[in-house]
Amino acid sequence: MMGRDELVDRISKYNPETNKALIARAYDYAQDAHDHQTRKSGEKYFIHPKAVAEILTELKLDDATIATGLLHDTIEDTRATREEINKLFGDEIGALVDGVTKLDQLDLVTKKAEQAENFRKLLIAISSDVRVLLVKLADRLHNMRTMEHMRDDRRRHISRETMEIYAPLAGRMGIQWLRDELEDLSFRWLYPDANETILARLEKLRTSYTGLIIEVEKELHLKLEEYGIDALVTSREKKPFSIWRKMENRQIALEQLCDIYGFRVITKTVEDCYRVLGVIHTTWQIVPGRFKDYISVPKSNDYQSIHTTIIGPERQRVELQIRTEKMHEVGEFGIAAHTLYKESIEDESNGKNPPKHDLLQDSSAYQWLRQLVDMLREGDNPEEFLEHTRLELFQDQVFTFTPNGGLIVLPHGATPIDFAYAVHTDIGDTCISCKINGRPMPLVTNLKNGDEVEINCATGHMPPAAWENIAVTGKAKAAIRRSTRASMQEQYGRLGHEIIIQGFALAERKFTKTLLEDKLFRLPHGSVIDVFAAVGRGELAVDLVISALYSDYVADDGSDVSVMKAAGHGEGGWLGKTMGLKFLWAGQQESIGPGSGIPIRGTPDDLPIRFAPKGGALPGERIVGIMTQGEGIIIYPIHAKALQRYDDQPERWVDVTWDIQSESRERFPALISVTTYNMPGSLARIAQLIGEADANIDKLRMVRRAADFTEMMIGLEVWDIKHLNRIIAGIKAMKIVNRVFRIQG
Ligand code: MN
Repeated sequence: MMGRDELVDRISKYNPETNKALIARAYDYAQDAHDHQTRKSGEKYFIHPKAVAEILTELKLDDATIATGLLHDTIEDTRATREEINKLFGDEIGALVDGVTKLDQLDLVTKKAEQAENFRKLLIAISSDVRVLLVKLADRLHNMRTMEHMRDDRRRHISRETMEIYAPLAGRMGIQWLRDELEDLSFRWLYPDANETILARLEKLRTSYTGLIIEVEKELHLKLEEYGIDALVTSREKKPFSIWRKMENRQIALEQLCDIYGFRVITKTVEDCYRVLGVIHTTWQIVPGRFKDYISVPKSNDYQSIHTTIIGPERQRVELQIRTEKMHEVGEFGIAAHTLYKESIEDESNGKNPPKHDLLQDSSAYQWLRQLVDMLREGDNPEEFLEHTRLELFQDQVFTFTPNGGLIVLPHGATPIDFAYAVHTDIGDTCISCKINGRPMPLVTNLKNGDEVEINCATGHMPPAAWENIAVTGKAKAAIRRSTRASMQEQYGRLGHEIIIQGFALAERKFTKTLLEDKLFRLPHGSVIDVFAAVGRGELAVDLVISALYSDYVADDGSDVSVMKAAGHGEGGWLGKTMGLKFLWAGQQESIGPGSGIPIRGTPDDLPIRFAPKGGALPGERIVGIMTQGEGIIIYPIHAKALQRYDDQPERWVDVTWDIQSESRERFPALISVTTYNMPGSLARIAQLIGEADANIDKLRMVRRAADFTEMMIGLEVWDIKHLNRIIAGIKAMKIVNRVFRIQG
């Protein structure tokens, strides 16, 4: 364990301009503050903050971060206060220590709702200064390394939090060695048996591999020398946890993994990386499909390297990673490699403010954090957010571009829909089509690295509900859900309003929104709009609304209705009191205006209005809607047999009319039955007549075939009821036809 002077020396090695006095003061202050405390192991408590500072020097971090490492537990565990830290060490360090203290209080594997809220707090804290996270990660690493004296349940709890949150975060920050070690330590405490097993098998494997590894290494050195390439070769062994994860994911045995042992070749220049690759590929046979060039297309955490796997002696597979020194540094240190201290020296020499973390803003890790925080502000449900973010923590990502060259990073499997939402929620909501690399492509296409995506929008368009299952990003899913929810609520509300007006008119009672508002306390709904929506959804009967407003009201038992029917209130009895609800077919222009009915948008599937499955209603024929609980309105043609079931429930009937515009060229299905005398070519002649009448035959089925006649069912696609009637009349007129009629559901 190093003392004060050693620590200062160590910092000076990578940062000659270090403020030695500051570090020394922080060291002494923390040592004093923790003086009477001991750890569970019985050691002095100060060992812990000192070790954290040491880990931070391995990441070559700036003075403020190292001082924070020394001081990080003072506010929480000693009598020190934020004010005192501010006074003695400045606001910057004060804010950092305060940030770490707050993170310490967040339990990230507790109850779901709390966990989500804590995760939000964590992200907000670290996005305001990412150095807070770096100190926290160092703190967690030291705690994980020294957990033997802890109670087993505590140990498991901390390990789970590390595995689920901190290790993936370290990975996202690009600090690979830290991630590996955190995962490995958590693995040891969470799955001791699995860990033991893998260690034992690795031990066995190692003995049989040693010779092979030496052989490959020798050959590699020889070749590099032959080609005059200056490079460092190191061998590495995969950690138990990564082995276990791969075995689990791919259901294969340990021996089948081809990257347990491997080499890293670290070169001076990018050019040399490709020269080394050439040497390797001409010396050994390679394993197809294992070559990856992360130098041309870096990973989202800025990782760059070439990966390839060769078939070595005894047909053993060996993985090789080729990278430059700089890439190696970024690969191991990630966000910490972005020259924190160099920038701070320049800042100070300019006489400006102390070093600021915003120098990190160029790194992908920082941008990823910013994106998350933007999402936090837009998202309305912290639990959904947590779920999606957690997924994203583990997902691989693809890089895509806007037509202007802007970079949009998306998780693997993302579609142009996700892309559109990533650019802006409004663009996502109104997007209708897209081009990928200049070619029109479906919105459900999976995007690939390097794709350039152009999104076309239409104002007023709303995302179909089905998109929620297509989108993979949390942002898109949440926005689609919000938009769908809002539009459904609005549609149900307008529908419910109309139904209420009709219901009150039938009951001959006056209705106004104000009257309802005054009596709202009698209903279990929070607002007038909620009442409308509940009625629209069929969850609340109009009778109950009338009773709420008029306590003397007694619901009809239906007898009045029959009187009305008998009195002949227009065609279809009481339906003559039409409420003017118009059914707009998908893709139709909305005709909004007083008395024009309720405009409905979208396809029948995501509407509170839909056709009865076997209804076969055609434009031009009388249709009615039946209020159905949880489904809204189901449309039937007026003569559908199914309607008989609702004869005694007049309150559920809603009059609807078609609103098909003449330029709409949409066909509708209709089913007819035709019986012909058996004569050669009779079917062909019927088909010809249908074709000449501008209808399509969708399906045809022989129902009965006797010696003298054939009965068949023909599925047609027609424009409207008149069109169908014309066809039926035409067929009827044929000599070969005995009988023809429309089949009704
Ligand atoms: Mn600590």
